[in-house]
Amino acid sequence: KVTVVGSINVDMVTTSEKMPKQGETILGEAFHTVPGGKGANQAVAAAKLGADVTMLGKVGEDAIGKEMIANLQKEKVCTDYVEPVTGISTGVATILLSGGDNRIIVTPGANLKVTPEYVRRHEKVLRESDIVLIQFEIPLETVEEVLRICEAHQVPVVINPAPAQKLKKVFWEKATWITPNETERDELFDGHTFSNKMIVTLGGEGVLLPGAETVIPGFSVTAVDTTGAGDTFNGALASSLAAGKPVTEAVSFANAAAAISVTEFGAQGGMPLKKAVMQLLEK
Ligand code: ADP
Repeated sequence: KVTVVGSINVDMVTTSEKMPKQGETILGEAFHTVPGGKGANQAVAAAKLGADVTMLGKVGEDAIGKEMIANLQKEKVCTDYVEPVTGISTGVATILLSGGDNRIIVTPGANLKVTPEYVRRHEKVLRESDIVLIQFEIPLETVEEVLRICEAHQVPVVINPAPAQKLKKVFWEKATWITPNETERDELFDGHTFSNKMIVTLGGEGVLLPGAETVIPGFSVTAVDTTGAGDTFNGALASSLAAGKPVTEAVSFANAAAAISVTEFGAQGGMPLKKAVMQLLEK
């Protein structure tokens, strides 16, 4: 059983021929909404790979929130404990796309209400997990509380430190695995690069195993959209660890799952089923 404590967002993407200037109104080409948020993405990745996944998080009491919950349910993620909160919107990323240029505003909204008190109320869910997966799109006090609860019940925790934030010592002490990409590691892990808890994703180059001595090379694939590669990696890693696999095997599995995810558009769109991952690994 995998429990993901994290963000639930919608990405609202408007594409246009050019970017509007300050005060300017222009016609767009297309608009679409895509489910997102690192928490929800990673939950979906793990569920698609066959894990029994429960999401802990919050949405606003709005139509988008209902839609995002329905999307998680469609992907077989348990949303029994996801709470709608009044007076604040569901997390939204407003994205303007024009040619290769983009402008993005992320409004965390209800994700900020994923409080230590909320996770304490759901201590039983955490306690009954084989692995807990968490990112930094919710308040850091909550991450710390999850670590404390999980330590008390000896439940292993994977921290995906994204977006990058300064890590307090307690995170290093209590986390089981920490999974930065290279940018996150370089920005924030100075002095801790020796940590044998750290699994560093290296984009197309693959993954650096804990201990920092061995690289598992990336699969050679045609990348069309790397959005969500890290999310697929983390969801897959958690699903494999929850199934009792040793960390090296879990990393290999996640490396293959993430490689497949970059061959299709969209964060959740490219996430593979277990069969496809096994086929790639057996090649
Ligand atoms: P993030 O998406 O968080 O920036 P990375 O870029 O490190 O993280 O990608 C995460 C993982 O996705 C990599 O470790 C690798 O397994 C896989 N991956 C990413 N880009 C590629 C690529 N071009 N080819 C093959 N695998 C990739």
